[in-house]
Amino acid sequence: MSKDKPRCKESVQGEGCWRSRMCSRYAVKGGYCHQHHPDTVKKRAEARDSRFKAHWDRVRIRSDKQNALSDFVTAFRKYYAKRLYKDRRSMELAWEKYEDHE
Ligand SMILES: [Zn+2]
Repeated sequence: MSKDKPRCKESVQGEGCWRSRMCSRYAVKGGYCHQHHPDTVKKRAEARDSRFKAHWDRVRIRSDKQNALSDFVTAFRKYYAKRLYKDRRSMELAWEKYEDHE
């Protein structure tokens, strides 16, 4: 075949750069490379979620109510890409998901 191999259709964000560019890997299935295939992305997200939950369960025990949110933000940033939670609203939604507000 003389045709170029199809490339992954995911766009990725450059390090320290707000602009995104296309992933440079070849597509292997469903138009995505291994790393960006929805199955892989989902699996990685689930693994990260469970690591974060375990970590947060330990951190929250030491946190009083006043420090809990800032501890949460610190812990959260360790496990999730900052750019996903750059705005305040999405961080609040994440906080509500993990913290029990009685
Ligand atoms: Zn890719």
